[in-house]
Amino acid sequence: MSTYNAVTDYLENIIQNNHITLIHVSGSSTDPDVVNAKKKVIIINRHYQTHFSYHFRLAHEIAHLLSETTHTYNFSQLSKATSEKQANLTGIKLLSDCYFSEHQSHIMRWERRFQFIETFGLGQLTHLVEHVLTPI
Ligand SMILES: [Zn+2]
Repeated sequence: MSTYNAVTDYLENIIQNNHITLIHVSGSSTDPDVVNAKKKVIIINRHYQTHFSYHFRLAHEIAHLLSETTHTYNFSQLSKATSEKQANLTGIKLLSDCYFSEHQSHIMRWERRFQFIETFGLGQLTHLVEHVLTPI
């Protein structure tokens, strides 16, 4: 199975297990993806122009829904910037759990971080990837 299909299956499993609805729309190139936390709906705009890969965009929106359902009482106190950073961090964690196999050590993951960044278009978030993958 290709990495692309494996990651797609992995994210679709999370979507199903959390009763999330995923919708794809064809908006303009400037309309970002959106999430509706109350309805647990993710709307991905196929035409949105971004350097981020499709999988990271999806993982980022899933992360919003996972954190906003478990920490509802906290969420209103968070600034938008904080919740975006948290969704980026959680999205990177979700993808790294799938991308790296269980038997890969932290050192091996660290050494492959640039391949990971390249695969998911995460160049702008290199610092966050390095934060997640730093060997303990
Ligand atoms: Zn977001």
